[in-house]
Amino acid sequence: MDLAHERYEALERHILAVNPGADVKRVRAAFEYANNHHGPQLRKSGEPYIIHPIAVAEIINELDLDQDSIVSALLHDCIEDTDSTHDEIARLFGPQVAELVEGVTKLTRMQYTSREDEQMENLRKMFMAMAKDVRVILIKLCDRLHNMRTLQYQSDAKQKEKALETMEVYAPIAHRLGMQKLKWELEDLSLEYLDPVGFHDVETELRNITTLHAGFLDNMQAHIRERLAEEGVQCRVYGRLKHIYSIYRKMYAQSKTLNEIFDLYAFRVIVEDIPACYNVLGCIHDMFKPVLGRFKDYIGTPKPNGYQSLHTTVIGREGIPFEVQIRTWQMHQTAEYGVAAHWKYKQGMANEKLGTERDFEWVRKLLESQQDTDPDEFVRTLRVDMFADEVFVFTPNGDVKSLPAGATPIDFAYSIHSAIGNSMTGARVNGRIVTFETPLKNGDIVEIITSKSARGPSRDWMKICKSNEARNKIRQWFKKERREENIATGRSMFESELKHAGLSLSAITANQELLDILLRRVRCGQLDELYAAIGYGGLSAQKAAARIKEEMTRLGRLERQRAEAEAIQASVSAGETVYPSTPKDSILAPKRSSGGIVVEGLDNCMVKFSKCCTPVPGDPVVGFITKGYGVSIHRQDCPNADPARRKPEEAGRWVKVSWAQAPDAAYRTSIEISAKDRDGLALDVAMALSAVKVKVNNLSARSQPDGYATINLELAVKDQRELNGVINKLSQISGVFLVKRAGG
Ligand code: MN
Repeated sequence: MDLAHERYEALERHILAVNPGADVKRVRAAFEYANNHHGPQLRKSGEPYIIHPIAVAEIINELDLDQDSIVSALLHDCIEDTDSTHDEIARLFGPQVAELVEGVTKLTRMQYTSREDEQMENLRKMFMAMAKDVRVILIKLCDRLHNMRTLQYQSDAKQKEKALETMEVYAPIAHRLGMQKLKWELEDLSLEYLDPVGFHDVETELRNITTLHAGFLDNMQAHIRERLAEEGVQCRVYGRLKHIYSIYRKMYAQSKTLNEIFDLYAFRVIVEDIPACYNVLGCIHDMFKPVLGRFKDYIGTPKPNGYQSLHTTVIGREGIPFEVQIRTWQMHQTAEYGVAAHWKYKQGMANEKLGTERDFEWVRKLLESQQDTDPDEFVRTLRVDMFADEVFVFTPNGDVKSLPAGATPIDFAYSIHSAIGNSMTGARVNGRIVTFETPLKNGDIVEIITSKSARGPSRDWMKICKSNEARNKIRQWFKKERREENIATGRSMFESELKHAGLSLSAITANQELLDILLRRVRCGQLDELYAAIGYGGLSAQKAAARIKEEMTRLGRLERQRAEAEAIQASVSAGETVYPSTPKDSILAPKRSSGGIVVEGLDNCMVKFSKCCTPVPGDPVVGFITKGYGVSIHRQDCPNADPARRKPEEAGRWVKVSWAQAPDAAYRTSIEISAKDRDGLALDVAMALSAVKVKVNNLSARSQPDGYATINLELAVKDQRELNGVINKLSQISGVFLVKRAGG
C-alpha cells in the first residue's frame, strides 16, 4: 500500500472511532477523487500532495464536524490546484460540498500581506463575510494549521509572510470563534518564525524553570486530585504549562521576567455541573493561599466569545504561583473548540449565559433558534451573516474599504476622495471594465479610471450609489460647479412638478404676493436660488410644489374671510342685528359656527384661530372681533387676551366663545420641545409622533451651540385631550426636558 492509501486508511479508522456508525463510502470516494486529481503533485516536503488534504480532514475529524466538512476538507484544494470544477464536485458529492469547497477556494485566493492595524480588522471581517457558511472558515483554519505545521519546507520569505498572516488574520479569527486550542497552536507556530530568537529564549527559560520545578506539575496534579476525591467530587484534573506565545507577550509587551508571571502553570479541573465548580473553588482556596485580585468568575460573566470558567491564582507550598481553571465539561468543550463544539453539544447549552457582544451575537442567535433542531439541521443553518450589511473591497494598493452592502464603483470612488469620484470616467473590478451600476462583492479589487477632462458626476449617480457619503459629495459638486445648469434643471423639474399638480409656473411667478411667501418659507432670497436648490438636490421639487399649493389654499381662504368679515364689521358698527338672515329669537342662543366654535351673540360668523396660542377644542377660549378678518380665537391664558392688557376702547370687541359639541375638524397647534441635543433626537420625536398617529404639518429642529436643541412642531389635533396625549408621549423621549405649547 502506498503512503497516500496508508494515511487514508488511518483517517477512516479515526472517523469510525469518533463516529462508530459512520458511512464512510463518500469519504473514500472523495479521497480517491482528490488523489486522482492531485496525481503526482508533490508538496515542498517531497510528500505526495494528497497527504495535505488528508491531514486537514484529520483535524476536521478531531473537531467532530459533520461528514460534508470532512469530504470538503479532502477536496479543498481540487478547484484551486487541479482541473476539477465546482459542477463536477456538485454532481459527485452534492451541492453542499461543492459550495464548501468553492468557499475555501475563495478564501485561498485572497491576499493578506501585512497592512496597517486599522486595515487588519476590516480584513478579518472580510474574511468572515466572504464565507457564507462557518464551516468554510473552520476548514480554512484547519488548512492553515496544517500548512503552519509544515512551514519548515518553505522559503524564508514565504515563512515570514505566512506566519504574519496567521498571527494577524487567522489566530484572531480562531479567537473570535472561541477556538482556544487552535488559536494557541497557530500563535506558537507563527511566533517561531516571526521572532525565532525570542521564541527560543522563552522556550529555553521555560525548560530551565520546569527542570527546577521538576515534578511540580505531576505532584500538584495528584495532590489536587486526592483532595477532591476525599470531598467526593467527580472530576478530571490536568496540569500544563501556558503556551509560549502568551508567556512571550507578557515578558515582552509587559516587560516582566519569567518569575513575575503568575500563571506559568495552569491546572484545569473539569467537573459535572456548576455547583461543583464553586465547590472545587472552595477546596482550592482552602488548600492554597489565593493571590488577591486574581479571582475571575467567567461563569457568572462569560467572555464575549462565549468562554466560561472560574479562574483563580494560588501559591503552592513550594512558593510557586499557579493558576487553576475550573469548569464543566460543556464549558470545556466550548473553550477548546468554540463554535465547533456546538456540533458535539446539541442540547443543554446555557444560551442566556453567552455574551451579547456583537462578535458572538450571531452564534448566540443561532443557538437560540437551534434548540429544537437536530445537529445536522443546525450545521445547515449556521451561516456567517454578521456582516450582511457591509461589503469589503480592496483598492489596487491593497487597502481595504468597508462600504454598505450593494455599493457600486461610484461609492468606492467617493470613499477614496471626492476628486476621484468627480473625475471618474470608468471602473475596473478584478481587472475587468464594469458599468457604474455593478454591485461590488467581498474581496473585489476595484480600480477607478479618472480623466482630467471628465465632465463630472451625472445626476443619475445619486440614484445608483448606496452610501450617503457619495450622495452628499455628488450633491456638493452640483451645488458648487453647476449653478447655471442647476437653475435650468431645477426650473424644469419645478415646472413639471407643478404641472403634475395642475398649476402653471408662469401663473405663479406672476403672483408676487404668493412668490414672496414661498421664497420666505423655503429660505431662498430669489427665484434663481430656489431653482438652483432644486437642481442640486437640496430641496425637492415635490416639497416646493406642495408649499405652493398650501399657500394658494390659505390665501384663497383669507380672501373669502376678508369678504365675509367686512360684512360683519359693517353690521356691528351699524348696531344692527348681526346677521340679516338670522331670526331675532335665536340671536343669543349658542349656535354652531364655522371651525367648531360658537360665538355668543353671533351666528355663522367667520372665525380664525390665532397664531400666537393656537387653541384646540377643550382649551378655555375667548374671541376678539377683528377689523375685517372675522372673530379671532385666543386661549384665555394667552398674553394677548389678558384682560389686564386689553385696551379700554376695544372692550366691546371681546366676546365670549365656546367650543361646539362635536367638532370634527382638526386644529392646527404649535408645540416647542427643549432637549439635550443628541444623535437621532429628531428621529425619535418623529417616531413618537407617528406612534400616536398625529398629523404633523411642520417639524423643525435647531441645535443650539451650547449642546441643547429646540424642536418646533406644527400639528393638527382634534382637541385638548389628544394634544395632552401627544405632549405626554413627547416628554418621555430621552433627553427631552420641556414640552410646551407655543404662546400662552
Ligand atoms: Mn490547502
